Amino acid sequence: MKRITIAIDGFSSTGKSTIAKQLAKELEYIYVDSGAMYRAVAYYAMQQGFIGPNGLDAAALVAALDGISLSFQWVPGSEDAAMFLNGENIEAPIRTLAVSQQVSPVAAIAEVREKLVAIQQQMGAQKGVVMDGRDIGTVVFPEAELKLYLTASADTRAHRRYKELLDKGEKVSFEAVLKNVQDRDYIDSHRETSPLKKADGAIEIDNSDMGLKEQFERILSHAHSLIHP
Ligand code: C5P
Repeated sequence: MKRITIAIDGFSSTGKSTIAKQLAKELEYIYVDSGAMYRAVAYYAMQQGFIGPNGLDAAALVAALDGISLSFQWVPGSEDAAMFLNGENIEAPIRTLAVSQQVSPVAAIAEVREKLVAIQQQMGAQKGVVMDGRDIGTVVFPEAELKLYLTASADTRAHRRYKELLDKGEKVSFEAVLKNVQDRDYIDSHRETSPLKKADGAIEIDNSDMGLKEQFERILSHAHSLIHP
């Protein structure tokens, strides 16, 4: 059967990872959460003291990039693969608001992107991959057969993220989550290297008022029409 590449881009909390995981499961494809990789690099920068009161020391982080090894690994008892940094499972800490507040400036560094894009391209080289992020259809896999661009209002997205963080037991205010969503939207779409934008040929879906099931069925039918033309 023909195997395709599915690239899903969009602002934070547009439900990219939910739909990407559903598609990967249904099609028996691999799923790659590229945002987890940028979060891992931001977490590393925080751990190493490259992010302090005066902001991010980009030069120090770039000089240390060769010491970063990233992989997705399955851990017993978990449905999804976890992000590992230099052999350590960092899946939980990279999802905190503290990391969300540092990740976009880190992801704006060209050398960081160069390193991660190369790894992502290797992961998807055999096709049969669903990858979500900000530059998957524009930079990582511009030749992807199916490109999606998900959108939803900032308020809707902040409510989703707020609920997720509360469910994980993190004590955050809705205002802080909304501000983080808006700040990341701005930085991710205005940076010089690979800013978030709709890729040529991408199908745009605003899911502010769309149920998960309806969205999944719509996207799956696009995928099927490409796999069995
Ligand atoms: O997808 P997620 O919200 O976890 O991504 C975290 C951050 O990583 C984004 O806000 C963005 O700054 C960065 N990112 C990126 N390019 C990608 C995926 C994520 O710049 N392909």
